[in-house]
Amino acid sequence: MMNMTPTYKLNSDEFGALYVKREDMIPYSFGGNKARKAFHFFQDIDKGDYDYVVTYGSSHSNHCRVVANMAAARGKKCIIIGPAEVSDSTYNSEMMKLFGAEIITVPVDQVSRTIDDKLDELRKLGHNPYFILGGGHGNIGTRAYIACYQEIKEFEKANNIFFDYIFFASGTGTTQAGLVCGQLLEGDDRKIIGISIARKNPRGRDVVLDSIREYLGQKEFESAGISEADIQDKTIFLDDYTGDGYGTDSIEIQDVIKKSLVMYGMPLDSTYTGKAFLGMEKYIRQNNIADKNILFIHTGGTPLFFDDLNKFGGKG
Ligand SMILES: *Cc1c(COP(=O)(O)O)cnc(C)c1O
Repeated sequence: MMNMTPTYKLNSDEFGALYVKREDMIPYSFGGNKARKAFHFFQDIDKGDYDYVVTYGSSHSNHCRVVANMAAARGKKCIIIGPAEVSDSTYNSEMMKLFGAEIITVPVDQVSRTIDDKLDELRKLGHNPYFILGGGHGNIGTRAYIACYQEIKEFEKANNIFFDYIFFASGTGTTQAGLVCGQLLEGDDRKIIGISIARKNPRGRDVVLDSIREYLGQKEFESAGISEADIQDKTIFLDDYTGDGYGTDSIEIQDVIKKSLVMYGMPLDSTYTGKAFLGMEKYIRQNNIADKNILFIHTGGTPLFFDDLNKFGGKG
């Protein structure tokens, strides 16, 4: 599919061995975890004779941008169903339009029914739509992050290092489910810590657990002998750093975004990676683990960085 995403040590005064894996540099449509997942979904799509790709997400959605791009490149129609509550213009939504996606916005409580109706309508008209859950959720998305986990293993082997901790922004939990499945299948012992960007526990963690169980419940993994206790043990979903919920910014997050850009030349956004990076820093300090080998997975969202940029107002 593609080469390993860049992984390297950050030049930090505070953290001795803090590495980043730059999933935002996946070379397709501004990258990110949604690009990695979408590559796997489109492998599936390319096997069938689908003429429509239908998915859902808000006007801020990185997933919808990447899916709209991949559909357009194949000459397939793309329909995006989104909540009217979050339908303001963003760089992602402008790109969805550029890719010619049909965007249908309805009140959030009608999203699910609208999807069903649209799929029915297309099929009645003789079309063959492929439906992707929001955020690229589901076993195919999970598999994409098992592949990412394997890249991390390769990096460790080639560089003679072992990451004691892996941190990243966790939303729908698919990225986390894939990483944890990867770990369980390898039998490694380390802490994989999803920093929730919105959901609270127990629901947030339960969704990750469900994705892991669904994936490992497939026939091919019967012999792997992974127990429910193993799954529980490895699934760490922290909801301490969600702030005021999805997409809510704060001075602290803006400071981290600014620092990361100035010190590391690395863009973060306030919804996902900035919030998670801040949560990770706090966790490292609170748990005195600054001397450990730590990996932060940069999950993307570059267009969101530009949506935020005007907040910094000149010298700031
Ligand atoms: C969607 C997204 C996440 C969360 O990924 P999930 O697999 O839904 O948990 C994290 N970071 C960015 C930039 C995203 O777009």
